[in-house]
Amino acid sequence: MIHSDLHIHSEFSYDSSLPLEIILSEAKKRGYRQIGITDHLNLPNDKFIGCLSASAKHVLEAKKNHPQLLLGVELTPIEKPFFDFYLDHPDLLGYSPAGYTPPTENIAIPYPLEMAMTKDELMSYGVQYAVAAAHGYIDTPYPDVHDKIAAIAAWERMQLYLAADERTTILGHPYYHGLQIWYDDFSVIPYSTHEELAAALKENGKYIEMNVDMLVNPKTTELFRHQYAEYMRFMFEAGVRVTFGSDSHNAYPDRRNEIIPYLEAVGFRDGDFSELDPLDLWQ
Ligand SMILES: [Zn+2]
Ligand SMILES: [Zn+2]
Repeated sequence: MIHSDLHIHSEFSYDSSLPLEIILSEAKKRGYRQIGITDHLNLPNDKFIGCLSASAKHVLEAKKNHPQLLLGVELTPIEKPFFDFYLDHPDLLGYSPAGYTPPTENIAIPYPLEMAMTKDELMSYGVQYAVAAAHGYIDTPYPDVHDKIAAIAAWERMQLYLAADERTTILGHPYYHGLQIWYDDFSVIPYSTHEELAAALKENGKYIEMNVDMLVNPKTTELFRHQYAEYMRFMFEAGVRVTFGSDSHNAYPDRRNEIIPYLEAVGFRDGDFSELDPLDLWQ
């Protein structure tokens, strides 16, 4: 059912130690038709630009012998006041307001969203596509339901922004639950928002990612996993193309067999998961 992996972090990302050679040899063993290296590019500072340069250099070189290899990037939307704040604090990674005094206390305020580079800038490094994924607030504790509602609203907004942005090829890990599981019942997210997101993704020709962590994270319940697989099936039935992403960082285990039962249970069959159409690649 799954013949590609379009979300992999390599040794060139600040948070990964997975050698490109291991990725290539494993992907070959698994018969993948397409694999994409998507190292993080959160901010346009020395740290992240250094990662992108290294990733581009090595992936473009390896591509000569591995035509199924793609150079991607993982982008993340950040609200403007936070974005500016992070740029002044290169030790921070740009993910969440935890650990310092944020420029605002109300996370629901709709500040403009920023991402690290323009599409032209990304293309100048040889980047062929982007997994664009929200990360904000995932590691911030939500002490009461009002904060959870604010968080869901923030996610909804970030995802709709990504669905319309020219830099997004694949909407990565929708409603990602983060390192702390900030919600454990997928039905807390209003169904109407699924319809809106599906329409926006379809209208703009975007793909959506089935991120393996959503179905294997030991902190998630069986109920949650079934709900999330249903959500992916809903997107597929609505006409949104679904890709697979292992989001591997430090090792490259093959976890397809763990998630396929959940996917089959909601109707996914071989042929339902997509590779990227060459027409959707930037170069
Ligand atoms: Zn991510
Ligand atoms: Zn990732």
